[in-house]
Amino acid sequence: MNLSKEDVSAFLNAVGVIAECPSCRKNSWAIGLDKVMLLAKPELIYEEFPGDPKHYETVVVICDNCGYVRNHLKDVILEWKQKNG
Ligand SMILES: [Zn+2]
Repeated sequence: MNLSKEDVSAFLNAVGVIAECPSCRKNSWAIGLDKVMLLAKPELIYEEFPGDPKHYETVVVICDNCGYVRNHLKDVILEWKQKNG
């Protein structure tokens, strides 16, 4: 299942994410759906599981004013969409 920017925006509103940027206190966000992976301790995991590192796919939300970046796990948003979409 794919996510749209509208899905992400609806999810963030539904779960009560604080709209104010924790860095600059503005409320103007851009949602990036490019593929972004968050690796957990990659230097250790690559050794344990060569070729199949543990990773988390995330949706990036960026403050238009100061560039503050937050990540939300894509799986959590997809799960919400399946229940509420
Ligand atoms: Zn900001």
